[in-house]
Amino acid sequence: MSVCENYQDVEKKVTEACKRAGRAREEVTLIAVSKTKPLSMIEELLPLGVRDFGENKVQELTQKAETLAQKEVPKPPVRWHMIGHLQRNKVKYLVEKACMIHSVDSLRLAEEINKEAGKKGICVPILIEVNVAKEESKFGVPMEEAENLIRQIAVFPWISIRGLMTIAPYVENPEENRLIFRNLRNLSVDIQGKSIDNVTMDVLSMGMTGDYQVAIEEGATHVRVGTGIFGERNYSLK
Ligand SMILES: *Cc1c(COP(=O)(O)O)cnc(C)c1O
Repeated sequence: MSVCENYQDVEKKVTEACKRAGRAREEVTLIAVSKTKPLSMIEELLPLGVRDFGENKVQELTQKAETLAQKEVPKPPVRWHMIGHLQRNKVKYLVEKACMIHSVDSLRLAEEINKEAGKKGICVPILIEVNVAKEESKFGVPMEEAENLIRQIAVFPWISIRGLMTIAPYVENPEENRLIFRNLRNLSVDIQGKSIDNVTMDVLSMGMTGDYQVAIEEGATHVRVGTGIFGERNYSLK
């Protein structure tokens, strides 16, 4: 199947999951995770109106954004989501290019984003990455520490906290992740209820190729689908 056919297939499943959950299709943004894949595959999707792409490396994101901008600026323009672990020394290259940083999990990183965004006079939307499953190999703050971190970051003038993100474990049966998604949703509702200045909890970024339908049923507003759209990634080629 072509990238466009794959995308349309995922899109159909997103729509079906929204229907099952009694949600409007517009409530969910399907992010096409294009990491390791060539720009030509991204370009194939533009005529379908796809504008949300996810990358996990700063250099790859900025390079693709710049190369595309030199060729053609699609209308509306592409929105690049930074979904991967972010090092502080790369923040300066990213702040103007990313529409949202999904992976903020420390005060030090937020400080750096605030500083670089301030230099450019822009406000950067971010999500707090939460390690709901308590996997040792994963980034993200534990659930219990999320509110505290959010209160500390909320005072930064050049950052706007928009919600939460999680990477669920790799599982054979997506139902195994339902509780993870439900827990993140509940945490988001709890924090929303605290009415912290400069914090909205309108974004829940959760669900990948293996489990995005379950994530939508549990309230995801942004799903991040890579393999399901672009096919398997081959890291050995890089
Ligand atoms: C790679 C990646 C995805 C997409 O994973 P697939 O299983 O290929 O859909 C989603 N989120 C993050 C943070 C990723 O790094």
